[in-house]
Amino acid sequence: MSGSLALVNGRVWSPDGAGAGCDAIVVADGRIAAVTGSAGARAMAGPAARVIDLKGRLAVPAFGDAHVHPVGGGLESLRCNLLGVRSRAGYLDIIAAHARGLGPADWVLGGGWSLEAFPGGIPAAADLTAAAGGRPVFLPNRDHHTAWVSPAALARAGITRDTPDPADGRIERDERGEPTGALHDGAMRLAARAVPPPSAADLAAGLRAGLRHLHAHGITHWQDAVVGDAPDIAIPDAYGAYRAAAAEGWLSAHVNAALWWDRTRDAGQVAGLLGRREQAASGRFRATSVKIMLDGVCETLTAAMTEPYEGHQHRGRLFVPPDEVTEAVRLLSGEGFQVHFHALGDRAVHVALDAVAGARAGRSLRHHLAHLQFIRPDDLDRFRDLGVVANFQPLWACHDPQMDDLTLPVAGAGRATWQYRIGTLARRGTRIAFGSDWPVSSADPVQEIHVAVNRRLSARLGRPGTAETDEPFLPAEAITVGQALAAFTAGVAWVNHREEDLGSLRPGHLADIAVLDRDILALPPAEIGTARVDLTIAGGQIVHGEE
Ligand SMILES: [Zn+2]
Repeated sequence: MSGSLALVNGRVWSPDGAGAGCDAIVVADGRIAAVTGSAGARAMAGPAARVIDLKGRLAVPAFGDAHVHPVGGGLESLRCNLLGVRSRAGYLDIIAAHARGLGPADWVLGGGWSLEAFPGGIPAAADLTAAAGGRPVFLPNRDHHTAWVSPAALARAGITRDTPDPADGRIERDERGEPTGALHDGAMRLAARAVPPPSAADLAAGLRAGLRHLHAHGITHWQDAVVGDAPDIAIPDAYGAYRAAAAEGWLSAHVNAALWWDRTRDAGQVAGLLGRREQAASGRFRATSVKIMLDGVCETLTAAMTEPYEGHQHRGRLFVPPDEVTEAVRLLSGEGFQVHFHALGDRAVHVALDAVAGARAGRSLRHHLAHLQFIRPDDLDRFRDLGVVANFQPLWACHDPQMDDLTLPVAGAGRATWQYRIGTLARRGTRIAFGSDWPVSSADPVQEIHVAVNRRLSARLGRPGTAETDEPFLPAEAITVGQALAAFTAGVAWVNHREEDLGSLRPGHLADIAVLDRDILALPPAEIGTARVDLTIAGGQIVHGEE
């Protein structure tokens, strides 16, 4: 067999049961040729084949990610990277060190800070003046719903006390109405427009960094959750970078783009989306989905709720009015696009489900709702009934500081129990897909599976001995390791219409395989988070790790 590879002496697991009881996989021409026993695998692969001894390790279909931002995440990791740090002082040190390497008029760009590092989740412009040496600074937080900007950035963007809040966002202000340095949601657009766009080379470097990072976590296929010119969420347009990578042969992942629905424009934008889908319809890059962002996030009170936030008058705002959402879903479904909704608040979730129902959108398009923080009890059955996929980010379903300090106080006691109801939806027959939302949170599926099963962070991500790791969050919503693995493999392949090629170890599927150092299906649940990905194979090629 040409170009063949045999993985022997392992444990093979696939969500559809393919190869159950087998300990070896034979790969030829980039696809799985057989799942069998080790002796048979060596014989079948032939004397010229490369043989990898798994030494008892677990081989699963390579992971997918149903909602991720690899190019923006990769680019931020190469710039002023605040990810992983959780204090104001820590951020100012990193910003100062980064700014020292820049020209005097250059922008400080990057991102990744956490709301929980600031009182009420709100950073101040004044802090940045000294740290950045007076330079303009534009730094989205890790969920890209708030940007921290310096006085020089406000000045360059012309944002003053006289600038009104846009309909879909808010400028943080002092009692005199002066902007204080935090721009929420659509208000980011006002400053993002003044930021110099990244070059094609910057974006290619970002994509390469994103590929490396995701492959290191066993991921070889995904849906990029925002591809387009999206100043509302401060994400650069990665379309050209993906197309170039596919054409030049270095796109080592299978990518489906969710093209950005510009909520400031009307149906006239559909022609442009069709053109982009057409031009991406070859090789490893496709663009068959459209992203509609319906609301913000709970922590800044911008998620759209049915009832007001606890202790507040307002209930968040829909970024797109319900009738416009329905019309957009009808138009896009008519053109054969899948719709990928950002829906966090229970009102946003309800309106998205109404739009799918009202547009009479076919099940075959596999529309999906991402984030799903709050789901009203009367909406729980509608996912299954409408054939809508529930796209969860399971790492968020725990008592971390963001949940305990920022979310629970404003959610209110009753509504707090409507959060991340993965187990309930699974039991009611909804198809589940998992994604990380990296760089919003860790891209590591092992850590996310740990939380999906335990409803608390692993010792690696959490702080051992503190309340947030001791107390499981709504433990009735936990699922099994097998269900969580399926959501990261077959679930993602389903969302991307790639179930004939990805998400299983069945013969004929692409040889996309992840090898874990520990068997998470056999470990005590509390130890799942200790596992790591040793080896990632994409199309029969090793893209991460050693034998
Ligand atoms: Zn996202």
